[in-house]
Amino acid sequence: MKRAIYPGSFDPITNGHLDILHRACEVFDEVIVLVAVNPNKHFNFTPKERVEMIKDAVKGMKGVTVDYYEGLTVKYAKEHNAPHLIRGLRAVTDFEYEFQLASANEYVDESIDMVFFMARGDKTFISSSAIMELANSGVDVSKLVPDSVYQKIKK
Ligand code: ADP
Repeated sequence: MKRAIYPGSFDPITNGHLDILHRACEVFDEVIVLVAVNPNKHFNFTPKERVEMIKDAVKGMKGVTVDYYEGLTVKYAKEHNAPHLIRGLRAVTDFEYEFQLASANEYVDESIDMVFFMARGDKTFISSSAIMELANSGVDVSKLVPDSVYQKIKK
């Protein structure tokens, strides 16, 4: 049984995240979408809201569960017997950040490895922050996020 973690802020989850998740499910039997909880960072949505929106968006996806965690993702991965962390790459800027993250993770626990998926061409511009900026300016983002997020943003 191959189990992986897909960690992130998911503030909120977007169709870009979902695309990575669908592709990860082709490789892994079980994927835990892990919402990062960082009390020192400002988020648009609470961990509970982010988890609820993801749960709704992944309904019916086999092998996918959702959880949240305050602490190092590698520690969560070790505790849950999931030696792979899934991440997505959109641009060179992502690469630099992810490369640093991978090195730091390796320093903490080298038994945990990272697996990267390249963003699909039509999803490279999608980020949680861009979605919120567009939505706050009145742009219709219904094609960029799952319905659970769209309904929440509309409110
Ligand atoms: P974090 O704050 O940990 O970077 P995010 O929720 O912003 O969390 O992203 C989680 C992961 O998903 C990151 O690896 C990010 O690069 C990736 N990701 C985000 N949006 C997309 C997208 N549109 N296409 C591919 N990967 C993406």
